[in-house]
Amino acid sequence: MTHWIMDDIPEQDGTIVKRLDCLSEVHGECDHDSQRRRVYLTFDDGPNSVWTPKVLDVLAQHQVPATFCVLGMYAADHPKLIERMIVEGHEVANHTMTHRDLSKCDPDQVRCEILDVNATIKRTCPAAAMRYVRAPYGIWTKEVIAESAKAGLTALHWSVDPRDWSRPGVDAIVDAVLAAVCPGSIVLLHDGSPPGESAPHAHAASREQTVTALSRLIPALKERKFVISSLPQCWPTK
Ligand SMILES: [Zn+2]
Repeated sequence: MTHWIMDDIPEQDGTIVKRLDCLSEVHGECDHDSQRRRVYLTFDDGPNSVWTPKVLDVLAQHQVPATFCVLGMYAADHPKLIERMIVEGHEVANHTMTHRDLSKCDPDQVRCEILDVNATIKRTCPAAAMRYVRAPYGIWTKEVIAESAKAGLTALHWSVDPRDWSRPGVDAIVDAVLAAVCPGSIVLLHDGSPPGESAPHAHAASREQTVTALSRLIPALKERKFVISSLPQCWPTK
């Protein structure tokens, strides 16, 4: 049985939304192999023509799967990268079309931000089954959860965030993950950057630290007897 962690998530106005259906950690599996120390890698804000192939290369070298939470506006421009993700055994998830703060969008905009990604991926890579959505900045509202559910998507949050996007240094990224990781952890990393800071070689948008950290993290996690896994195939029983 898979247990889904219900987070208390602060809304923009400071109130707390209780018990939203967000997957932040995975405890137990549906594959009768729940004793394994599984950990899940997720990459947000791509695909990016420079950094996504490098991330894919590292994952391929170590033969581990990951989930890519893609922006629809980038996916439309890089269908080959989406295809490569799927062919190499990774999962593609919805990270909205343009990475807007959905708590500041009206209901129609929320719907379009979510649904248009699914349509884009279906068009560019019909083999990709979309199961998860991750809200930009991890800002979940009841409306976002409801629209996601209507689109057949489960809200995917995270439990380990080394803030790699802020480029704190390779050591800092590796250390932050290793200090926090436990069985069932969902690790947040970035293979791209949202529009506005997305020039491929712009200093702030560089994901070089993430790529280097990843190449050290995978062996370090394996050494600690973690199994880097795909997100579970089963659905929660509530
Ligand atoms: Zn993002």
